[in-house]
Amino acid sequence: MRKITKLLVANRGEIALRVMRSAREMGIKTVAIYSEADRQALHVRYADEAVCVGPPASSASYLRMDVILEVCQRLGVDAIHPGYGFLSENAEFAQKVQEAGITFIGPSPEAIELMGSKLAAKAAVAQYNIPMVPGTEYAITDVEAAKEIATQVGFPILIKASAGGGGKGMRVVQHVSEFEEQMQLAVSEATSAFGNGSVFIEKYIGSPRHIEIQVLGDTHGNIVHLFERECSIQRRHQKVIEEAPSAVLTPELRAAMGRCAVDVARACDYVGAGTVEFLLDENMNFYFLEMNTRLQVEHPVTEQITGLDLVKEQILIAEGNPLSFSQEDLTINGHALELRVYAEDPANNFLPDIGTLTTYKRPQGLGVRVDDGFEEGMEIPIYYDPMIAKLVTFGKDRQEAIEKMIRAIEEYQITGIETTLPFGKFVMEHEAFRSGNFDTKFIERYFQNPSVLSAAPRQDEEEIAAVLATLFAGQLKKATTAPAAQGGTTTGISDWRKNRLK
Ligand code: ADP
Ligand code: ADP
Ligand code: MG
Repeated sequence: MRKITKLLVANRGEIALRVMRSAREMGIKTVAIYSEADRQALHVRYADEAVCVGPPASSASYLRMDVILEVCQRLGVDAIHPGYGFLSENAEFAQKVQEAGITFIGPSPEAIELMGSKLAAKAAVAQYNIPMVPGTEYAITDVEAAKEIATQVGFPILIKASAGGGGKGMRVVQHVSEFEEQMQLAVSEATSAFGNGSVFIEKYIGSPRHIEIQVLGDTHGNIVHLFERECSIQRRHQKVIEEAPSAVLTPELRAAMGRCAVDVARACDYVGAGTVEFLLDENMNFYFLEMNTRLQVEHPVTEQITGLDLVKEQILIAEGNPLSFSQEDLTINGHALELRVYAEDPANNFLPDIGTLTTYKRPQGLGVRVDDGFEEGMEIPIYYDPMIAKLVTFGKDRQEAIEKMIRAIEEYQITGIETTLPFGKFVMEHEAFRSGNFDTKFIERYFQNPSVLSAAPRQDEEEIAAVLATLFAGQLKKATTAPAAQGGTTTGISDWRKNRLK
């Protein structure tokens, strides 16, 4: 047992604040680090102490292991929380922290390293009979041999970077004739983005849901799961809306996936909070994708339905405490939704729209939680992820959580930049989402033409697909003159901009 008294949060934005709040409740002193671009940031003001660690670029500040460790020594810090992103999944950092005699709030460097490689992770869990997407279990190097395997697996296939993350380093190959070109592109992308050109093949699941299981493991060998999060609403293979529980899991399937997730965690002697990601196909078969060895962006939905503070649990585990509950003690209570409010323009392919938060007014009230790191008048820096806030709503059931989300989106006032708020409302009002009958293709299927926003979106799937096919053929700008999805009204992106929320 090693009581933590002073915690450095090696991160910024909403997650740095969120971690510090729990630390403060536990009577732990907090230290913020910040870059020159974040001098005015809320996490800097909230912390008991704050140290500038360098210029704006992450590589010169938030990723400087040596500088961060030096700050720890100087200020007598006894633990580091890495948040998500940045150094959170860097095994070398976890190792260095440990060597410096500081507690790393996360799993062992070995577990991080193992699960950081999708291929090594698959190999490690093989002994546990975990279902996996058909494909190769090793890095592909020989193009001809790889083509043969891809043909056996059956097109379309996905070429994936073993070291990939954040939805990057993935290429869909529809036909064998494109294979070689796509493989070369995948390898060079993986090399430049992750410093590791290892790629492998997975069967491309046509209409999957992304369902992940939250796990917690302590240093005494206890591992539990905290049920699932449904994260199928994605753009660029990256989540925008998450919820817990999923609208489609039966208690049996939930228990089976939970058991698998615990086995995956056991395969790497997992300690702390982690997430095991799965794809669920149309026939409700699930397949292990990867494990994320950190606190996940969307962890609040799990907190809302379990009543647990995941950051407190992480800290207690890091101090050496055994979990204070067993699997049987955990139950799902109510329903939670999260919308990631990004500084992105949904009408323009969700491209980042950086600028100043001229107006910024948060929604409030029963069942509404906003985790953010900004205030009115602040600028969203161009150097980092453009997430402004996580808007979380919680209700007795899914219907109530959806109603609260719509109400909260309507109350949320942001001007100066485009955000994903109107997209969130579109999703909440869409029949496919409301019925629970949706998958990772939601945006592709229903939101290719953002003008459907101003038409009533409750359309038959095929009707929309047909209209979108004629409207678009891949060219967004045509939408301004073509008939919209319903009743022949002419609505386009420019109209949508006018009509959209504040
Ligand atoms: P998660 O896996 O937690 O759902 P994503 O899939 O969106 O989150 O993100 C994938 C990668 O990008 C992870 O390494 C995550 O830590 C990082 N990341 C996500 N959002 C942010 C952010 N707002 N700031 C920094 N890093 C982020
Ligand atoms: P990352 O490390 O970037 O998070 P993941 O393997 O977790 O990579 O996949 C991210 C997303 O990409 C998934 O949520 C899913 O939408 C899509 N995806 C990944 N693998 C497949 C697959 N085999 N078939 C279809 N979609 C996939
Ligand atoms: Mg993933």
